[in-house]
Amino acid sequence: MDLKIMNSLKEGALKFNIDLSDEQLSQFYNYYEMLIKWNETINLTAITDFDEVLKKHFLDSISIGRILRQKEIVSLLDVGTGAGFPGIPIKMAFPYLEITLLDSLNKRVSFLNQVIDSLGLEKIVAVHGRAEDFAKKELYREKFDVCVSRAVANLSSLSELCLPYVKVGGKFISYKSEKAMEELVLSQNAISLLGGGNVSCDAFTLPGADLQRTFIIIQKVKETPLKYPRKAGIPIKRPL
Ligand code: SAM
Repeated sequence: MDLKIMNSLKEGALKFNIDLSDEQLSQFYNYYEMLIKWNETINLTAITDFDEVLKKHFLDSISIGRILRQKEIVSLLDVGTGAGFPGIPIKMAFPYLEITLLDSLNKRVSFLNQVIDSLGLEKIVAVHGRAEDFAKKELYREKFDVCVSRAVANLSSLSELCLPYVKVGGKFISYKSEKAMEELVLSQNAISLLGGGNVSCDAFTLPGADLQRTFIIIQKVKETPLKYPRKAGIPIKRPL
């Protein structure tokens, strides 16, 4: 383990009010090793350099610590989690959360199950399916305090994929870059049709990476009409 680089993760996390223990740091390291090993056979990440993974995947994922402090948040869903971002780092940084990881690519879900088993993570499940389909299931619809998503679709499509999962009173938090404001302007109609409101933004620079990041935080102010999300593929093909 490269202690200097691990120390930069510890210091970066502190900027987001997260004090990672040695045990948590070694979980991150083991996750990195598995990511690189599995990446030889299935496509999980284009970034493989240790320092870059730490900043652009791990630190970016847990930067949600800036806004995820409230005690009332218990259940969190990560839509289109891929290799586990941001859901797995969030689990490692906030072990008390009950996390569901959802992805439509079964190979990635197999990887996630292996990570969960090997690292002995608890109160976390990885499920295989499309966001449009799972949102129709009683077990998932309007059941989560928070839904997060990173690098899956534009904000309008993503609102249709994510807001149906959020309880009234909960939040959909989208990880975006510097183009967040443009996306937000184009998504006003979708957000309001889907039961979202009281939108706020939190912009910051990722420590050590000089990357502009923005959280778009959308409150769930009323139930999502049952006709949403539309059939699989439509939210991305024809955003509201
Ligand atoms: N969130 C991860 C990250 O930030 O690295 C992965 C991003 S990757 C570009 C997009 C992921 O979303 C893929 O793993 C893909 O399988 C998944 N995905 C795309 N559309 C989806 C849908 N409708 N339902 C569930 N997963 C979806």
